[in-house]
Amino acid sequence: MIFTRHTIPNAIKAAARAIRTFFSKDPVIASAGVQSIRELRCSACPHLVGDQCSLCSCFVSVKTSLASEACPDGRWSKETRFSKGLIPKRSVDIHTGVSRN
Ligand code: SF4
Repeated sequence: MIFTRHTIPNAIKAAARAIRTFFSKDPVIASAGVQSIRELRCSACPHLVGDQCSLCSCFVSVKTSLASEACPDGRWSKETRFSKGLIPKRSVDIHTGVSRN
């Protein structure tokens, strides 16, 4: 398990984002299709260690299910009522996790 000085602050921030989303019109839980694709991208990512992301220390099984979360490396984005939360900031090969840019 990865535990850094960022682990607890990041978990608190993620919970705050989810709570804020709860009071908005955006979805709190990501749709099943979005979760599946996010999990696929995480599973091919070199930053995945066990079930945790080594960049943010989040448990990706939880992170990928929350609509308000986004990948810290730009491999997937948050899901809102206007977006499906999959468009990365940069192009990444989902099979190798290698950036194409
Ligand atoms: S950097 Fe992004 S894609 Fe990689 S494990 Fe972390 S959350 Fe998943």
